[in-house]
Amino acid sequence: MADMTKRDGAVCGRFAPSPSGRMHLGNLWSALLAWLAARSRGGRMVLRLEDLDPDRCTQERCDQVMRDLEWLGLDWDGEPVYQSRRTDAYRAAFARLEEAGLLYPCYCTRAERLAASAPHRSDGIPVYDGRCRRLPPEELARLAQSRRPSWRIQVPEEVRSFRDLLQGDVSQDLALDCGDFILRRSDGVYAYQLAVVVDDGAMGVTQVVRGSDLLDSTPRQLWLQERLGLPQPEYGHVPLLLAPDGRRLAKRDRDQELGALQSRWSARELVGQLALLAGLIPEYAPISPGELIPLFSWEKLPQADCTAPLL
Ligand code: GLU
Repeated sequence: MADMTKRDGAVCGRFAPSPSGRMHLGNLWSALLAWLAARSRGGRMVLRLEDLDPDRCTQERCDQVMRDLEWLGLDWDGEPVYQSRRTDAYRAAFARLEEAGLLYPCYCTRAERLAASAPHRSDGIPVYDGRCRRLPPEELARLAQSRRPSWRIQVPEEVRSFRDLLQGDVSQDLALDCGDFILRRSDGVYAYQLAVVVDDGAMGVTQVVRGSDLLDSTPRQLWLQERLGLPQPEYGHVPLLLAPDGRRLAKRDRDQELGALQSRWSARELVGQLALLAGLIPEYAPISPGELIPLFSWEKLPQADCTAPLL
């Protein structure tokens, strides 16, 4: 774990794939851009497998994700970090927030299932209205008899702003647009929002590059970092690749999955397609991620979501 504490002041980017299925073109796009953003500044790149959900993530899938990144020509520094092995760190952060009086038990079941994975916009989780925060003690005691609660953190009425590397100035009203969010599920699994903040801090991540469907999560992550006394990385949210019918590519779009793509394309050809889409090369040509390093710049990237090429 020596790498997890190393802070040398230089850029450190990260891959944070969820090994809940095979990577698809959209995952590869984000991974390539995150790698280029870090490497083009001479930065380090670390890998964290976001395998918190025991129902969806297996070691086999983690191994597959790593093979897929390597196949594409993307490397990382140090040993991969598995979130499933980091429970002690999440427990400590949770305890600290609890001591600060920010947490409360929630007996509502909606939205809980998804809390361990990153909330992509299309998941459509509504803003929680804080109902369990206002329950009288006798009602809480009654509910506690029947089931284990999940735990939410109470957000303040506060507008959070930051400057995104690609999307510019972003603001969110934490109470109105985000609402109290889950930090631990009722089955004891820590939620994505807590784990991502704890791990980005512990791994010395200074630059988070990810899909723009996670833009909504960033203000609450910045706020959580402050509560936990963690340094704040810079953020760049890259556009999504959409299916031809306008949906976000999902793991269920089998034809855009790496397994299917690999039977038709070499890694250099696939990277060439993505580089063209990113505006990094003027016309299609097979190319390696390494050859793209000097060509990368944030100014060239499209801001708006793009339709994935039919590969
Ligand atoms: N594990 C998340 C995903 O694959 C990404 C989380 C993040 O980059 O913060 O969607």
